[in-house]
Amino acid sequence: MEVTIDKNSGYCFGVEFAIEMAEDEMRNCEELYCLGDIVHNSMEVQRLYAKGLRIIDREQLKELRDCKVLIRAHGEPPETYKLALENNIELIDASCPVVLKLQNRVKHAFDSGRAADTQIVIYGQVGHAEVIGLAGQTRDEAIIVTTEEDLAKIDFNRPVTLFSQTTKSTKGFYHIKALIEERLQQANQDSKLPAFDANDSICRQVSNREPQLTRFAAEHDVIIFVSGKKSSNGKALYSVCKQHNPRSYFVENEEELEREWFTDAASVGICGATSTPMWLMQQVAKGITALTEAVV
Ligand code: SF4
Repeated sequence: MEVTIDKNSGYCFGVEFAIEMAEDEMRNCEELYCLGDIVHNSMEVQRLYAKGLRIIDREQLKELRDCKVLIRAHGEPPETYKLALENNIELIDASCPVVLKLQNRVKHAFDSGRAADTQIVIYGQVGHAEVIGLAGQTRDEAIIVTTEEDLAKIDFNRPVTLFSQTTKSTKGFYHIKALIEERLQQANQDSKLPAFDANDSICRQVSNREPQLTRFAAEHDVIIFVSGKKSSNGKALYSVCKQHNPRSYFVENEEELEREWFTDAASVGICGATSTPMWLMQQVAKGITALTEAVV
């Protein structure tokens, strides 16, 4: 049985940059605070903990003074920067440039759409760090839509500008876009259609992986998808694998592997999310070898 690690899987440049920045900073200090998990992968968080990275939440941030805090790739809302200034906290800003650009676009759409009473709609996960940062650009007035049911929060008699969290699935975004179009038309059969501006702001590091993963998933008998359970990008990419290879399994680490998954398999493909470190996929490959005596 052959075991292959997908060369396109692993960290996107945003996460790689944030981890590099944290590691650089920790060379000069014993402890560095990071607001939220630096990456949605508990194995990597543990590795960085050993080097001095301390994860804190927003409540803990409020108690800190005169120290350094790293902002991870997901970005932060304006309130975080304000709080840091007030409490003499030096921010090590590792926000991904793609997220920062999207924050600017959302802010611009919000500010320029006020006169026309435009609603900013974000297709994303409520409570996700990136979504909190994006909604913060709109003074938390943005409407967050995750499922079809959430569309009830939109007023279809007013203009809508739609964005997506960078790590959502492309298919999901276009489905929501089509539903909004449909409802705008239904609600305005006898009147002029309100403006609708849909912005596919899914990161290309994510959307390009869908077609790559589709091919990879179909090429192997069994797929082992490695990701942290909290990673929204992980969930989206795993569903792509599952759709194209029913023998796809989601694991957080090699301890979750089960021998029967590999019965009669000639090839196994290992892949992961944009938050999955390469060392972890290599560890999972070794775990499969040990479990099945395969050749890597
Ligand atoms: S997925 Fe894209 S937007 Fe998100 S951190 Fe990675 S590079 Fe940045």
